Amino acid sequence: MSKAMNRNVAMLPGSFDPPTMGHMNIIERSAELYGKLYVVVADNIQKKCLFTAVERRSMLAVLLKDFKNIEVCVWQGLVVDFARDHHIGVMIRGVRALVDFGYEFELAMTNKQLFPELEILFMPTDPTYFILRSSAIKEMAAYGADISKMVPPLVAENMRNRIKLLT
Ligand code: ADP
Repeated sequence: MSKAMNRNVAMLPGSFDPPTMGHMNIIERSAELYGKLYVVVADNIQKKCLFTAVERRSMLAVLLKDFKNIEVCVWQGLVVDFARDHHIGVMIRGVRALVDFGYEFELAMTNKQLFPELEILFMPTDPTYFILRSSAIKEMAAYGADISKMVPPLVAENMRNRIKLLT
């Protein structure tokens, strides 16, 4: 391992469009394991999102303000480049079901090829949250379903306002 990398520093990248209770669970559990955790909001111009990357970062920053070892960032490039720049030793990805695993495994193989020194760990979801998926929650919200148990109250309110604007 290069001296520049720190195995006590981890990152959790994702779209977080929007942040869900499942994300919060995986973030809080990861923060307990490492001295520092970067939550990295991917600003992927090819992905059509309900919230801008800055809005997603702001929501996460408010929701995670009590965790002194968590920093929320926006990143436009490859996640491995964020890891390199910030001397991060571990990347965590949450997995909900077997379907996630196939995709995550391939992604891990690619990232490992790009940056072999980065350790990539999978954290299984808490069973309470295993059905939570941002895309499904957005669809439910658009049809007026009650999403209050799936996302934090701040996110539910922002989603209601955003959907009102779009319809
Ligand atoms: P992506 O855009 O790569 O799909 P997401 O924003 O959906 O990323 O999620 C970010 C991270 O959180 C990923 O590692 C994803 O697997 C994980 N995640 C999302 N929802 C849940 C959940 N309900 N339980 C556990 N992990 C989750």
